Amino acid sequence: MTNPLPVYPVRSASGCTLTLADGRVLIDGMASWWTAIHGYNHPVLNQAAIDQLSRMSHVMFGGLTHEPAVNLCALLLDMAPKGLTRVFLSDSGSVAVEVAIKMALQYWFAKGRPERKKLATIRCGYHGDTFGAMAVCDPVTGMHHLFAEAMPRHYFADQPRCRFEDPWQEDDLQSLGGILERHHREIAAVILEPIVQGAGGMWFYSPRYLERTRQLCDQYDLLLICDEIATGFGRTGRMFACEHAGISPDIMCVGKAMTGGFLSLAATLATDRVSDGICSAAPGVFMHGPTFMGNPLACAIAAASIQLLQSSGWQHRIAAIENQLRAELTPLAAIPSVADVRVLGAIGVMEMERPVDTAAAGRYFVENGVWIRPFGKLVYIMPPYIIQPRELSRLTGAMGGLARKLADR
Ligand code: PMP
Repeated sequence: MTNPLPVYPVRSASGCTLTLADGRVLIDGMASWWTAIHGYNHPVLNQAAIDQLSRMSHVMFGGLTHEPAVNLCALLLDMAPKGLTRVFLSDSGSVAVEVAIKMALQYWFAKGRPERKKLATIRCGYHGDTFGAMAVCDPVTGMHHLFAEAMPRHYFADQPRCRFEDPWQEDDLQSLGGILERHHREIAAVILEPIVQGAGGMWFYSPRYLERTRQLCDQYDLLLICDEIATGFGRTGRMFACEHAGISPDIMCVGKAMTGGFLSLAATLATDRVSDGICSAAPGVFMHGPTFMGNPLACAIAAASIQLLQSSGWQHRIAAIENQLRAELTPLAAIPSVADVRVLGAIGVMEMERPVDTAAAGRYFVENGVWIRPFGKLVYIMPPYIIQPRELSRLTGAMGGLARKLADR
């Protein structure tokens, strides 16, 4: 970087706080990009790591298998939306999305429909930084327009405008419906982030949109891929966001919070139909095999994290965070620098009228004892689920402080 933004060296992290090298303690609003749902340095996850380390940290996952991966997959299948019965483990969210896309293409190839190789998605989505994933990120607001000429071209429908809590407007589906009607013969799958569009705009759309998309996929015999990498493991108030719409995808990606933020691990889940379809024709297996697939250390921590989540009373915690975020963030919408405020589950968003100076806002937040990192016009938080009310008030208070400071300019 020739013009880097300021960075803050971190010495340690514990519970909901980060301790900087200079001794300052910050309340964390970001959960390290959605991952640290149980907070940092959690004794249960530390112990799971130590126990697994003393047995083995890694072995190859070709021709060998092990208990941590088997346990994790059993837990995932047990909690996953109905119909998802198979798991493919990989190392990061982007790779889980690559795997999902490849599954859809290989499925249609095996079915004798190789012309079905395009994807349909919605604008303002975000699915990762590798090439396949980049190609379904928003083509305009996405971070990747530089590479547009080098990427496969897919179909982009308008972003759903009907908000999560709004009455449903069937018009909202017109754009996606039209694309699928015209092009379904060459489309393999629809891919989207269910309910919450994350890095592409922090937007919460109507569950009915997702429900109707599922119906359209059935009507045109298309696969539905739900990218639950940001939303999975309780963040939106449901274990998986697609539960808000009562639907099951054919393929689902999870990652981020799966290890409670300890290590990078992701998974792509699929139905029997997808898996059997892929294996029904040569080469008879799914063509992907990452070196660190099923890493035992990451799997053991993920299994411990999921069990910790399941026994934590997470629904009450998320509901309490949601109520407090609504009470404390909604009034900020009256500040002239603020364009919109929205809350869903343990996610609070303050959209500003103008893009925020990330360096200056970062300095303001650090001086006020919190860690919040704005992106474009969005100032948002998705704290660890263990956050205490007074800690959460420090975060929302700092957001309000920034908004008032920007309004005074
Ligand atoms: N999909 C979604 C919805 C995401 O939010 C992200 C990460 N921000 C990714 C995919 C990519 O995950 P990773 O950064 O682990 O590759």
